[in-house]
Amino acid sequence: MAHVVKVQLVRTTHYRGKRLEKLKESASHFEQSLNSRSLEEKVLAYEARGKNRFLRSGGLGNAEVLRLLRAGPATRREGRHRIIDLHLELDRSDGEGVYGYTYPNDPVIYTYQSFFDGYGPAWMAAHLAHEYAHKVGFKHSPDRKPGRPYTVPYAFGEIVYDVCAEELGDETASIEATPGRGAKRRGVIQKIIDMFT
Ligand SMILES: [Zn+2]
Repeated sequence: MAHVVKVQLVRTTHYRGKRLEKLKESASHFEQSLNSRSLEEKVLAYEARGKNRFLRSGGLGNAEVLRLLRAGPATRREGRHRIIDLHLELDRSDGEGVYGYTYPNDPVIYTYQSFFDGYGPAWMAAHLAHEYAHKVGFKHSPDRKPGRPYTVPYAFGEIVYDVCAEELGDETASIEATPGRGAKRRGVIQKIIDMFT
């Protein structure tokens, strides 16, 4: 089946050689998961606090959230496909465990080299998914509130990670040892920070 949504790297800054190859692989992971049946099922079945909803979805049901992520205004049409344009920059300073950051009204997604080098493409795909969810218009608290993992950006990041790990594998070697795969995954995903709230 042809891909319906394509992820395009419009601009990449400071990514070279093997890092650029890994970045392309990560973007490809994100694209494949976005088009997968598995992602569709996970988004449609998503539950938070006993309801079939994401938190802070602006009153939108899961089907509408899925539609916005795959074909909303943050995408553009090109022939029969929808395109997601990504502007990516590698930040060579030490992120101290954090993935990266973004600013509202700035198309660039900044990623710390320390994170990028330490984690596999499935995690980078989760980071891209999180930031892209902001560009779609979804928000979350800047603080680590109990409900924050269930907002669209964080939950979508976890879903994309899960789909990538299940279908494409997670080759991350240097992951920290923490109890349980779910807790580990959530702990890592919660280190995504940005200026969106
Ligand atoms: Zn965010």
